[in-house]
Amino acid sequence: MLTLLWGLSALVLCTSCSENNDQITEPNSVEQTAETPWSKSVPKNVIEAATKLDLNVDHLRYDTFYFPDGTSEERLFIEEDIVMTEQEILALAKFTDGRQYATNNLVSQGRNISIIGYTGFLYGLSSKERNALSMAVNNYNSLSGVSISFTLTFGTNYQNKDMVVYRNPFQFGSGGSAGFPNNGLPHKWVQIYGLSSYNVDVIEHVITHEIGHSVGFRHTDWFSRESCGQNTNEGDAGVGANHINGTPTGYDATSIMLSCFHSGVNGEFNSNDITALQAMY
Ligand SMILES: [Zn+2]
Repeated sequence: MLTLLWGLSALVLCTSCSENNDQITEPNSVEQTAETPWSKSVPKNVIEAATKLDLNVDHLRYDTFYFPDGTSEERLFIEEDIVMTEQEILALAKFTDGRQYATNNLVSQGRNISIIGYTGFLYGLSSKERNALSMAVNNYNSLSGVSISFTLTFGTNYQNKDMVVYRNPFQFGSGGSAGFPNNGLPHKWVQIYGLSSYNVDVIEHVITHEIGHSVGFRHTDWFSRESCGQNTNEGDAGVGANHINGTPTGYDATSIMLSCFHSGVNGEFNSNDITALQAMY
């Protein structure tokens, strides 16, 4: 999940929020946090695959992933909001040199991506969330020098769409989840949760961020999770391995692809995010 970074005042009011508890894991630990129902430990080959892909393994865990039809399955959650199956992560690591990861796993250049905002029972987006989705799609469609584009519709018939954005009413905390592209297609499932009390810009931020993962963006602070108030992996040999030319290698405080967000975000790309998208597409 893209976890919420509480402001200082919010910390005083809310000391038992699950999203903060989520983040309290020891560096390099793959143990489950106490609140999750999963006791299954992550196998060594999966940890090795994640490491090879320069994914931050400090927050690698199994959890339940819900689809908009209410079905669910076990999936791996990586860096809190990136969701993959075991098969996906093992296949990516097998065929990918970590340094080429960003270029080998993108949406096909020039693709027009069909994206649907789900409006069905229980998992449907609220009107504010639908507005935020429109704003997020506009963030991408208004860029120049980027070959991919999106066609947004709203409804329930998501089977033949490239991406579906929906709300998980059962997830604690506030944020979203997504995955990485595969076979030239974006990751299909973009989930948001716990955002009803936030303004439309915050929701726009979360959806833009999760769409970013789905088209191949990494967390810009994957190495440290500094945006979450952490510094769990400083000095890691993999720092900057997937660096995109023309963007900073250090902490970029206003990137939309930071691991954690706060209630003051404006929902927009910063100039480095745009440079990165133009380089990728
Ligand atoms: Zn993320």
